[in-house]
Amino acid sequence: MDRNTWDKKTPPGFTELRKEAMTVELCVYSLQNSRMKEINQVRAVAEAAGKIWCQGGVNVQVVHWEALPPLSIAGPLNLNSTDLARQIPCGSLSDAARSQLSTIGKPNAPAGDPTRLVAVYCIPGNGFQDAPSASGCHQFQFQGNTSPDHMILLTDSADGRVLAHELGHALFVRLTGPNSWMNEDPDPGRNVSDRLHNANPPNLMYSSVSEKPSISPEQVMVAQKSRLVTRQSLFYGFRENKRYKLGVDIKTLHVDEVSDEITSDNALESSWMFAVGTSIIKNRKPYENSRLTPGDYDLSGSFDNPLLEVESDTDKLTLDVTGTDRDFFPFNDELPHIHKEWSKGEDLWGSTSSDPGAPTGQHQEGPVKNDEIKYSVTYAIRVDDAPLEEIFRHIC
Ligand SMILES: [Zn+2]
Repeated sequence: MDRNTWDKKTPPGFTELRKEAMTVELCVYSLQNSRMKEINQVRAVAEAAGKIWCQGGVNVQVVHWEALPPLSIAGPLNLNSTDLARQIPCGSLSDAARSQLSTIGKPNAPAGDPTRLVAVYCIPGNGFQDAPSASGCHQFQFQGNTSPDHMILLTDSADGRVLAHELGHALFVRLTGPNSWMNEDPDPGRNVSDRLHNANPPNLMYSSVSEKPSISPEQVMVAQKSRLVTRQSLFYGFRENKRYKLGVDIKTLHVDEVSDEITSDNALESSWMFAVGTSIIKNRKPYENSRLTPGDYDLSGSFDNPLLEVESDTDKLTLDVTGTDRDFFPFNDELPHIHKEWSKGEDLWGSTSSDPGAPTGQHQEGPVKNDEIKYSVTYAIRVDDAPLEEIFRHIC
């Protein structure tokens, strides 16, 4: 899947923005009487857990959520009671109880290998039978070497840190030999007397999760290799199907010095070409001045059409100024060339930055100098049209 179940649909006329990233996917079910009844509650818990796992480069994604109707699955637990958590000893769950819970399965899960999806059941009650202050429980069962099936139970008191911790237990499940799986904490700081947990209180796998839990490099390495973690092309926003349009106004040609051939006076018979462009459009405008002497020449408005369409985010805006001084002998002299490239960057091809003291989008190139002239150019860049863009998800 490429999105959370609550993520927006892409409107017509827009293109999806995607990024490939490591992802663990959850199917969340709220049992009857769970206080987790609304998708926004599930979303808050999943997003908080996702922020924590982002440290390990793993995105947490909820691909399905639903509130389940009353269940009639035979077994030792009353799945429809108001204190289901208190019937469950997470640390010593009977096979019958585990099998009863796993019979709930992953109804309406998206197509694909169901063992790559973690089932999360939101259950009523606050603490478990054997651990009244615990609010999360991870269980897994396996057949053979390849496909352990995971479930996480979250009580009414669970928050994103608890989900992140239980996901840690799931992501650390690894094969150690034929038909042999284990889920010890891979961190060297694991607790020697409780090897599923860490001895270091700030660590995510400490038995009671701190405010800002950390994940160690050893834990990240094992988690990223988990069967539950797959590379997905994740949808994080959309952009309108139209191009940026830029306007460039060449404002002033500043001539600091001129020096013409010895036989004539000190004014240049100059002939200029100003060119601005992108990969799909070039806009060239000539400018003639047969008596060019030091001073400022106002060109504003002369070079401002048409608008420059930008093909893509990697396209560049270029500015080139060339010129010649028409001499009778021996031949024309080239004036020094100005070449400047703008990338989209953070300042949208220079339109939102400026030179010190100048209005937004205004820049100066030069001075450039040779035997004939020393000059610079002031110009302004603006965005005249931009595609609408919405980014609603951070991808790790
Ligand atoms: Zn734990």
